[in-house]
Amino acid sequence: MSQETSERPDGDLRNTGMSLRHDREWDYELDRIVDAVAERDAETVGLQFPEGLKRRGPGVASDLRELLPDDVSVMISGQPCYGACDLDTYLMKRTDVFVHFGHSPMKESDRIIYVPLFSNVDVFPIIDRALDEELAPPEEDPDVGLVTTAQHMNKFDEMREYLEDEGYTVHTRRGDERLTHEGQVLGCNYASADVDADQMLYVGGGKFHPLGLAMEHPEKHVVIADPVNNAVSVADNEKFMKQRYATVHKAMDADTWGVIFCTKIGQGRWEQAQEIVENNDDAYLITMDEVTPDRLRNFGLDAYVNTGCPRITTDDGPQFNKPMLTPGEYEIAIGEKPLDSLEFDTFHGTW
Ligand code: SF4
Repeated sequence: MSQETSERPDGDLRNTGMSLRHDREWDYELDRIVDAVAERDAETVGLQFPEGLKRRGPGVASDLRELLPDDVSVMISGQPCYGACDLDTYLMKRTDVFVHFGHSPMKESDRIIYVPLFSNVDVFPIIDRALDEELAPPEEDPDVGLVTTAQHMNKFDEMREYLEDEGYTVHTRRGDERLTHEGQVLGCNYASADVDADQMLYVGGGKFHPLGLAMEHPEKHVVIADPVNNAVSVADNEKFMKQRYATVHKAMDADTWGVIFCTKIGQGRWEQAQEIVENNDDAYLITMDEVTPDRLRNFGLDAYVNTGCPRITTDDGPQFNKPMLTPGEYEIAIGEKPLDSLEFDTFHGTW
């Protein structure tokens, strides 16, 4: 996550009369955390930040320490974190208040405070450009689907109104229970884009999400309005799809398989992993949290199937020294399904 802005000061200490020790550009909702500590009479607080915000961790912890009673200890998770699927359950079990920053809840729980960290970047100039440059005008195609990420969810209603004022019929929906908000997408779930529109407007930073969207919905024209990099483009899944086909072809020669079951709380697909192993004597179930090339190298198997985060497979796949497939691609590689059934692997439900 890189879309930091400096337009708005933190709002979290406005009512306390105290000043922040560290300059920060997001609202970390420290008042909510302080209230939760008081309510629960907590002695320990655990903080978890996504990779892009880890460097803010010590500053946030320091500000919290100033606001909290002296006997409350604040700890920071050092585990990698890429989504709300990726809670540090070790730290969560050992702290009275556990705060997960930067993602909207995948599953609500009394034990966890989610602080979503909404971006304050102005999205409308870039939407305007997307309308001019890449979206079909309403006279040609009045229907447009609208999706965004958790960081821009606070502007979603305004974005919809903006498009409606331009003459579009805006189609939105909430995906499944893995998603918190209407119109929200995750790297592994584009159910909110199952709408009756041939063109989709994605508003958000980077190409990670819209590329997944284009892979999941190859029939749609996916326009990217990126307010963070101030860029408009169209998501093109061709390179990705070619890479997937090439990897499946390579895996067709594999005799031995590693089937990865990911132990992260929101990435486990146990039945799927089990089923593969039960039906293939040359497949071995491997459990792990972080799925990295180094961790797999020593197993010496011919190919791998990843039932954890699908983006590890599609985005990081080329870094592995052996073919890494999604469960659907595995079925193609062993001849159970035709090559043209290849599709993007999505993840549904929670835990
Ligand atoms: S499984 Fe992967 S893509 Fe899905 S939320 Fe987790 S990190 Fe993101």
